[in-house]
Amino acid sequence: MTIDIPTLAYRDRVAAFLADSPGRLLIDGAWVDSASGGTFPTVDPASGAHLAEIAAGDATDVDRAVTAARTALDGEWSRMTPADRGALLWRIADVMTEHLDDLAELETLDQGKNLRTSRLGEVPAAINQFRYYAGWPTRILGQTIPTSLGRIPPGKQVHAYTRREPVGVVAAIVPWNSPLIMAAMKLAPALAAGCTIVLKPAENTSLTALYLGRLLREAGVPAGVVNIVTGLGAETGQALAEHRGVDKIAFTGSTAVGKKLVATAATDLKRCTLELGGKSPALVMPDADLAAAVEGISRGIFDNGGQVCVASARVYAHRSVYLELVDGMAAFGRGLTLGHGLDSAADLGPLVSDVQARRVAQFIDEGRQQGATVVSGGELSGPTGTFYSPTVVTDVRADMRLMREEVFGPVAVVTPFDDVDEVLGWANDSRYGLAASVWTEGLSAAHRLAARLQAGTVWINCHSFLGPELPKGGHKESGWGYENGAQGLENYLETKTVVALV
Ligand code: NAD
Repeated sequence: MTIDIPTLAYRDRVAAFLADSPGRLLIDGAWVDSASGGTFPTVDPASGAHLAEIAAGDATDVDRAVTAARTALDGEWSRMTPADRGALLWRIADVMTEHLDDLAELETLDQGKNLRTSRLGEVPAAINQFRYYAGWPTRILGQTIPTSLGRIPPGKQVHAYTRREPVGVVAAIVPWNSPLIMAAMKLAPALAAGCTIVLKPAENTSLTALYLGRLLREAGVPAGVVNIVTGLGAETGQALAEHRGVDKIAFTGSTAVGKKLVATAATDLKRCTLELGGKSPALVMPDADLAAAVEGISRGIFDNGGQVCVASARVYAHRSVYLELVDGMAAFGRGLTLGHGLDSAADLGPLVSDVQARRVAQFIDEGRQQGATVVSGGELSGPTGTFYSPTVVTDVRADMRLMREEVFGPVAVVTPFDDVDEVLGWANDSRYGLAASVWTEGLSAAHRLAARLQAGTVWINCHSFLGPELPKGGHKESGWGYENGAQGLENYLETKTVVALV
């Protein structure tokens, strides 16, 4: 498979941003070099072209950023009215909208994803996070509580109420698969709640966070309220998670790192929410609209090269429709053109890095050796070895890594089933519990299945439908807590009970 990478011209504002040493840290409203002066490169995964140097923040930088966030927590920001905070969130969305094309192009350049996905899907979704949470600051309410306490002196009464207060300084640590949305899903509710933030983007996709940092300042976010410290996970991320001045870790990433962060948070009992990995099943019943299932499940696993936490990675099809589904998904995958994300002729871009592409290839090689059948795809290519073709695999046993572990690539494992209880057992036989989909025209059966599937989200006749108003989180080892909606806001609030004898 040969992939043609055209020579590309960037949008003016993107070119100017890349030329203007974007690799600085945002600390207390100023763009500063890292204390060590160290940097690392970020590259276009499709071509290997150098895009920019990114600052390698260390524990000193983290400390400066956390100190700035703590100072800002008690400053002008704490006195801003809820209505003004809501207006600010809306203004952030407006400024992002003015720069939508720049953000989309940068996301595609840095992460590899198709420009259509960035332009029509992910950047608007990130903007919608701010619009959605703009409505919340004025709706954060405590309660007055009638008490039944004894020993009240004669003539006195108890007045008891709760206050909802921001949890404090938030360490937001995000992954590389959908960098801007992941950052927005933490920033928007945290700002709505009145928190201050230190954001640590993933090392290979820091550019849209750094661009957003400029837009936040333009929108009027006070200095120190959002700080951005770039760097490597085990250094910058770990230093941030360990910092005693951080009140809460809001993490999205792998289950392995999530578990480490729980141990880190335990030292001072920081609050911790975790959005982790998945290996989500899609169940295709005999009465499903098969054309819709083929397209929906294929998009669910092939879009963004399968680098989607909720990707439809395990497909279980009733034996009566199994062959047709396998053929349909294989044909869908073969029909996708691979190319540079900015090339309008391409449907799918590269994976985020050669490391990730080789990891996907290893899963397939190991599966082949263990007896799996690669029906379509299974090819690594591209000038820097970052493209992996959409792949459909069958004959995968339940004990194989290909069935149990998250590949985070465009790889669908398809298995036939005969009986509903059997397939429910298989679908739930996973340490993950992030999402699932059910494909059937029988809606009663679909809702019964939805109740029995162990997953934070169950879709019926669709997959990967997400929005800021829909709570999203993982059961089992897919996470702790929920983002989006009212529950997403709760992550950033503490309750204080005030009891007065009056
Ligand atoms: P990762 O866990 O390797 O890294 C995520 C972030 O954590 C990065 O910013 C990284 O630098 C940082 N990090 C790494 N080690 C750290 C440490 N010791 N201390 C502190 N921070 C550290 O994940 P990834 O490879 O970037 O992303 C892919 C994973 O993210 C997949 O497992 C995917 O399922 C998951 N994900 C989950 C969701 C969800 O909502 N559940 C969404 C997107 C991605």
